Amino acid sequence: MAAKQQEPRLSLKLLIDEERNRVVAAEAHKEFVEILFSFLTLPMGTVIRVTSSGGTKNAVKIGCMNNLCRVVEKLSNENWETENCKSMVLHPRNPLGNYCQKLKVNIDDSWSNTKYRCSWCCSRMSWYPNVSCTCGGKTSNHKITYGVNNEGAFLQKGRTMFIISDDLQIRPACPSVLARLLSNLGLSEMDGIREMLIEVSKEQVISLLARSLVSESPLSDVFLPNPTKHETKLPERTLQTTEQNEPPAPTPTPTPTPTLNLQVTLNKSTNKLLFAKATNEFFDFLCTFLTIPVGSIIHVLKRNLGGFGGCIYNLYTSVEELEDKWFGSCLKSAILNPQIAQYHNCKKQPLKLDELIESKLLLDPRPNQNFAGEPLLFIVLDNLDVKPLSSASSSLILRELKVPFRDVEDQVITVGMNEALSLLKAALTSPSSALTNGLASFLQKKKKKQEA
Ligand SMILES: [Zn+2]
Repeated sequence: MAAKQQEPRLSLKLLIDEERNRVVAAEAHKEFVEILFSFLTLPMGTVIRVTSSGGTKNAVKIGCMNNLCRVVEKLSNENWETENCKSMVLHPRNPLGNYCQKLKVNIDDSWSNTKYRCSWCCSRMSWYPNVSCTCGGKTSNHKITYGVNNEGAFLQKGRTMFIISDDLQIRPACPSVLARLLSNLGLSEMDGIREMLIEVSKEQVISLLARSLVSESPLSDVFLPNPTKHETKLPERTLQTTEQNEPPAPTPTPTPTPTLNLQVTLNKSTNKLLFAKATNEFFDFLCTFLTIPVGSIIHVLKRNLGGFGGCIYNLYTSVEELEDKWFGSCLKSAILNPQIAQYHNCKKQPLKLDELIESKLLLDPRPNQNFAGEPLLFIVLDNLDVKPLSSASSSLILRELKVPFRDVEDQVITVGMNEALSLLKAALTSPSSALTNGLASFLQKKKKKQEA
């Protein structure tokens, strides 16, 4: 019998600037680069779950997203359409999970190729047992595991090496690429640069994901014992908004953007949003903040990330700038916008993101295509803490807010594309005021006093 299977590891060659104690570059085969690219396919809920799973070591705080995760976890079953809905938001499916399965190290455990077939018609299926089928039957408890072919994940076969900068800019290896990178870091020669071969573990891949979202030097942070944290002022591209380089805007589709109404209560003197009264439809929209993959978040925000994501944006532009020939068919555009996994979107999605259809035979585990049960109202606080109105005590909320009643005003905001983008950005970047930062600029201004 074979010995206990060893945890897969990947080799990586680090180039270390000894004097400044930092990784200036890494050289890696495609297997490592694919793992970095897979970060863009992870839904935000997965990112938060995976990075916080090993205790506080890797835990990252991403705006109000951690709060939203906690809310979903706490919300009891009667607030969801079915129990599966909560599980879908907490363990959102990766739309490109079938490719990530082939990674040498896969940190996303939420995707599986196991399905349950309807016991009546035997043709439709679900990821869950006991889901109602369109034929009137239900999926059985017997799971079927489908095979995954053994080809590469995202990149074409080959032994090409790639150069990776400390802030995750990736290029096919070439001496001139390395020279330019080192020169941009103020280095003029290879003297003083030590090479180190390492074996990367799964735990370190999770650390890399975490650091890529908050730091500009993930390689140094993870692989050096006491790295000097660098506010890397890196090449042109990195810090500037690239509006002038933006690809042509997608041709507008004729379908109108769905909108959601949200009643917000603001503190008039501070213009701060105290809370919002949200329908189950709006709550479903908030749930999709956790089911949208990182790549699609960057795609919809169109680079206007407002401080979100350390150097994950460099990873994104590296995919963009790598020629198509490096990727398996259509995979480049898929990584740049993985979309949302099937049945993980809300009915009214103002961000106009679509689901990636995995199979037409799959059943929606949500009988009415909602995450939240309906009809249901929620109170959403500024930090995206959500309480069902059925259980939240209105008097307690008012007491906690400590705002005089005469200083409070209700308004209704129509959340369309611009409002949704602004709220998403605020949820990613503001630790406690997502509603205010995201939506206050859309409030109706009170009429100024008539000039004399
Ligand atoms: Zn059936």
